[in-house]
Amino acid sequence: MSGMRKGRLFVIAGPSGAGKGTLRTMALSGIEDLVYSVSCTTRQPREGERDGVDYHFVTERDFEDKVAGGLFLEHAVVHGCCYGTLLESVERETDAGKDVLLEIDVQGARQIREILPESVLIFIAPPSLDALEKRLRRRKTESEDKIALRLENAKKEMALSSEYDRIIVNDNLEQACEELRDLILSSRKVEKA
Ligand code: 5GP
Repeated sequence: MSGMRKGRLFVIAGPSGAGKGTLRTMALSGIEDLVYSVSCTTRQPREGERDGVDYHFVTERDFEDKVAGGLFLEHAVVHGCCYGTLLESVERETDAGKDVLLEIDVQGARQIREILPESVLIFIAPPSLDALEKRLRRRKTESEDKIALRLENAKKEMALSSEYDRIIVNDNLEQACEELRDLILSSRKVEKA
């Protein structure tokens, strides 16, 4: 036996616009041996997004082939597009002893809970639905009907927050980031003890 510790998964989920992306970036830049797994999506790239960095942008046909080939650890349809986490990219990191951060939707988080129950599931909540709506509009990445769809989904997602190991309310970004960081670092300590 090599004695090398296998990495584990930290999953952040929650409504679109709650600040998951920003928290993810902040956590990744401040915590050692924590890496991000780049997901596949059939969504069109947004302005400034890079293939292989933000997502692997794939066609629907391509995505279906990957599903059929069993290449995904989890996958789901979110806001009308397909998203999935590649099994291989997660395993490569955990085998090397690194912890992996996933930023996925609530359906994906449920699948991870089933497959890898030792994972830490974190729900990022907006202070309120009103605040969420304001953020989505300010972001200006989505059209009106897409904003409406995301808000509708947000209501359903909020109802699932009790399934998580921890809920972090992103009222103040610095504070939320600190909380996320403490949670990840303290989970590691518990494991070692
Ligand atoms: P966006 O299109 O705004 O980048 O992401 C839309 C939603 O899809 C977000 O809630 C995001 O967390 C989720 N998502 C991104 N990648 C994955 C993935 O690999 N699997 C699942 N289940 N959801 C994902």
